[in-house]
Amino acid sequence: MHRLVGLIATLCVATSASAQAPVVIRGGWVFTATSDQVVRNRGILVRGGMFQVVNDDVTPADTQGARLITLSDDEYVLPGLIDVHAHYNMTLGPNGKRADEYTYNPIIFLANGVTTTFPGGEYDPEGMMAARKRIDAGQQIGPRIFNSGPYYGTAREGWNQNWTAEDIYKDVDYWAAQGVRGFKAKGISPEHLKALIERAHQHGLPVTGHLESGFRNSTNAREAIRMGIDRVEHVLGGDALDPTKAAYPSWVKVDVQSKAFKDIVALYVKHRVAFDATITAPVYFGTLQEGFDYWIDERKFFAPAIQEWVKSRPPRRANPLFDSLYWAMRRTTKAFYDAGGIITLGTDNPSRGEFLAGFSSHRELHALVLAGIPPAAALRIGTINGARALNTGDKLGSIEPGKFADLFIVRGNPLRDIRSTRNVRVVMKAGVVYDPAELLRSVEGKIGSGES
Ligand SMILES: [Zn+2]
Repeated sequence: MHRLVGLIATLCVATSASAQAPVVIRGGWVFTATSDQVVRNRGILVRGGMFQVVNDDVTPADTQGARLITLSDDEYVLPGLIDVHAHYNMTLGPNGKRADEYTYNPIIFLANGVTTTFPGGEYDPEGMMAARKRIDAGQQIGPRIFNSGPYYGTAREGWNQNWTAEDIYKDVDYWAAQGVRGFKAKGISPEHLKALIERAHQHGLPVTGHLESGFRNSTNAREAIRMGIDRVEHVLGGDALDPTKAAYPSWVKVDVQSKAFKDIVALYVKHRVAFDATITAPVYFGTLQEGFDYWIDERKFFAPAIQEWVKSRPPRRANPLFDSLYWAMRRTTKAFYDAGGIITLGTDNPSRGEFLAGFSSHRELHALVLAGIPPAAALRIGTINGARALNTGDKLGSIEPGKFADLFIVRGNPLRDIRSTRNVRVVMKAGVVYDPAELLRSVEGKIGSGES
């Protein structure tokens, strides 16, 4: 453990030293996320971790002492991706217990151009908080972590159904004081959710929920939106869900032309509640769908023993419910988009040794486009919409002067083929430049090695 932290620290010293110098990016193209277009990049100047000049003339004085990155005509600058359902947790090995992996997984996220993450429920909130502090202090490499703290609801181990509103307030106060940047409810009763939202909002923090039909004292999004929830995960809810059943079996049959569907969509639009579509999330339990190929074999980042375990597992048995859910999510997300709903990008991929959430952000972008959403809109979903969902749209999510300089550079026009976002050439977070290939090399064979 000590040796590892030392290694990471050495690597960081190297990168933060170069961070002192301004960076100038010339040539290629830029998608700023402020429009639907890619435009020729006239010049981007990054100083002090911020964008100072974007797509304007950079003077010779600006370039003095600056690190110069010159792009070819087939390279595109994009705002860093924002995954608002970015699980760091994994279940690895035959006796594996779900645990947050905050040593190597942050490197995987960053190497994929994911510069900001909201973990969406943490199993080891103290460990995740410590990781974030190490990253913020430059002692470890990773994206920005907007800690969610522990789950609110039955997803938290030892969750007490008998908690009063006062108990919830106290717990929210505690985690807010620890520095969480939002909350995640999962398996929560209406009474508890109401208390959570009230208190979180007093702290200026947003709440998102993996909600249900209303069955067995669960909460339907219809009620949650009236309580003031900020975001909803996976399923839009409303009257399309049978209140005497769990959510998924009725959601897979949802008719996007029905009144029930249109009513719930209208409620989201009216209250400007964001929907975290997570189209690819069911695929981890179902048949592998388009986009689930390996452009880099993600399995190699796991320790040899984990790779052996993955190989020794019986072949995947696709769950038909999750196969239907994937197609229902594609349908409903497109209909929600057409109605003017706000969508965010969430991967929701707690790994079992096959796929890694950082890579899956590109699968999710692709799935949004497969669903029928235009590529430019998908990129905004993956960038500025996420920033706004995390209450930080004024500082993150687009390439504009005065924002933190988070970006990644890809080969190929993502508006022509969204899969171009997979070809990550350079990543920048707060003006610090990273070589994604080098980052990935540093993680090969490591995840689940017991070193974390
Ligand atoms: Zn999740």
